[in-house]
Amino acid sequence: MTYDVIIFGAGAAGLMCACEAGKRGRSVLVLEHNVSVGEKIRISGGGRCNFTNISVGPENFISQNEHFCTSALARYTPEDFIRLVEHHGIMYNERKLGQLFCDGSSAQIVSMLLEECRSAHVEIRTGIEADTIKKKENFFVTTGGQILTSKFLVLASGGLSIPKIGATNFGHRIARQFGLSIVEPRPGLVPLCFSGTLGSLCSELSGISIEAEVRCGKMKFRENLLFTHRGMSGPAILQISSCRKEGEEIHINLRPDIDWMDVLTINRTEKKLLSTVLEQYLPGRFVELWIQNLGETKPMNRYSLPELQHIAGALANWTVIPIGTEGFGKAEVTVGGIDTNELSSKTMEAKKISGLYCIGEVVDVTGWLGGYNFQWAWSSGWVAGQFV
Ligand SMILES: Cc1cc2nc3c(=O)[nH]c(=O)nc-3n(C[C@H](O)[C@H](O)[C@H](O)COP(=O)(O)OP(=O)(O)OC[C@H]3O[C@@H](n4cnc5c(N)ncnc54)[C@H](O)[C@@H]3O)c2cc1C
Repeated sequence: MTYDVIIFGAGAAGLMCACEAGKRGRSVLVLEHNVSVGEKIRISGGGRCNFTNISVGPENFISQNEHFCTSALARYTPEDFIRLVEHHGIMYNERKLGQLFCDGSSAQIVSMLLEECRSAHVEIRTGIEADTIKKKENFFVTTGGQILTSKFLVLASGGLSIPKIGATNFGHRIARQFGLSIVEPRPGLVPLCFSGTLGSLCSELSGISIEAEVRCGKMKFRENLLFTHRGMSGPAILQISSCRKEGEEIHINLRPDIDWMDVLTINRTEKKLLSTVLEQYLPGRFVELWIQNLGETKPMNRYSLPELQHIAGALANWTVIPIGTEGFGKAEVTVGGIDTNELSSKTMEAKKISGLYCIGEVVDVTGWLGGYNFQWAWSSGWVAGQFV
């Protein structure tokens, strides 16, 4: 069978591209290897899909080429997607840091995209794996003994995170087959693991969260840090995990709203214990274990000034080195992917292979936590949908 466009992956980017191309009168086939479509949308945002952010710019993305996403984000903006959501009568709310979530369920976003695809006469086949893909003038896809041909082929098969709901390296593999280079993929928005004394401390504090500013290199995020059985998670850690390269240290400022030297100085002549002072600002269990690591807790008036400076410094700049991450099984996104140097930022078409388009998370563009990854999927999908 012959189509104008074959799209691999019925996720956020693939469905957006499909309905846009369909609206332009293209015959579009979407091939999805899962039995259902939009699985990641369904589980996103704790079931409520943080579908965009009111403020989105290239600074919210990680990529070897930080400007690559600029054009697509400017051409299909959060306002455009919000208009679509409103057109479908989906109620939503704004949470912290401009994050927009469905009031109801993420399934509403999947239904909306399917409805758009239906009205654009897009054909979607699920439970389908491609056996081979070849290109002469057109693309030839073989699947289960059938040959499908198309003028345009779109890789929208996502990243490597959460293989148990269908993530595969298909997009990277096919891109490589066509000679496109790949920026080494690694897990992003992922909990970090620690070993030794710090690992035990985290495990004992599992479930406790503290507001922190977490820094790695030039990047810093101020949000909650959550201790887990294997290390640290929470929004601040997830954010920094995407920016951090292996072996790099992380600096944690616990309660950045507090000047620890001021707090300790004010209490310097008191007989109360250091732990009693710190417990006014930090969870008791954390203080107990953290002080054990530091030495002992003494009455405040028995600390010298250099000792207090050391304690204040340790609270404001707790330096840690993770031994690794919880991997793709727990990562929300993949950092890396198809090298943006291979693609036109205006169209998402591969520069070397005419008719081949790459969109969404399969590309080396990774958003921060907060709705940015979906906005990239919508924007890149929409852009490609105007050209295929
Ligand atoms: C738990 C979790 C929560 C998240 N929450 C949010 C959130 O609230 N906000 C946000 O912005 N981002 C969130 N994300 C990230 C977001 O889901 C992704 O960045 C986004 O879905 C990427 O869109 P995509 O279309 O590129 O890929 P996907 O949505 O992953 O779609 C790719 C599709 O391709 C299919 N596929 C894979 N291999 C093949 C193959 N060989 N053949 C055919 N089809 C194939 C997959 O099954 C899938 O349906 C979350 C991610 C996770 C894991």
